[in-house]
Amino acid sequence: MARALDLAKQGDKIKGASPIGCVIVLDGRVVAEGHNEVGLRHDPTAHAEIVAIRQAGAALERDELRGATLYSTLQPCGMCTMASIWSRIDRIVYGVGRDDVHRMYFEDRHLDTMNFIRDAYRKDMPVVAGVMAKECAALSYGPDDEPPIEEQGNI
Ligand SMILES: [Zn+2]
Repeated sequence: MARALDLAKQGDKIKGASPIGCVIVLDGRVVAEGHNEVGLRHDPTAHAEIVAIRQAGAALERDELRGATLYSTLQPCGMCTMASIWSRIDRIVYGVGRDDVHRMYFEDRHLDTMNFIRDAYRKDMPVVAGVMAKECAALSYGPDDEPPIEEQGNI
């Protein structure tokens, strides 16, 4: 998670990127990492987790990431949770959760990432929440902040 935080901080300094970081670890080794690059790539799917999942697939030359753990500084959104399920990642570990950040980071008012995992055919996908949550939260807008409209990707 410390590495994911570093990546998030890097993303904060790059125009078109955002301060959300992700690392994928397999067999004790980092196989992919990234930060949000939506503006940089002009790609609304370029969330940190998607960037890392694509990088892991390319690096390992396979489309399944069984055995891997995905670390994200922010609770994965619906798209990234689904991508984790489809890529057969074993475990998700995240920092700050949706209740402790601004709603702009999520696509749905009420549907929580956990609901996707609970309903998935796979029942063996543990999620660990709140790892270095305070440090991760410091990189995001809080629930009561008023971020600029142009930064709010969900409206
Ligand atoms: Zn996402």
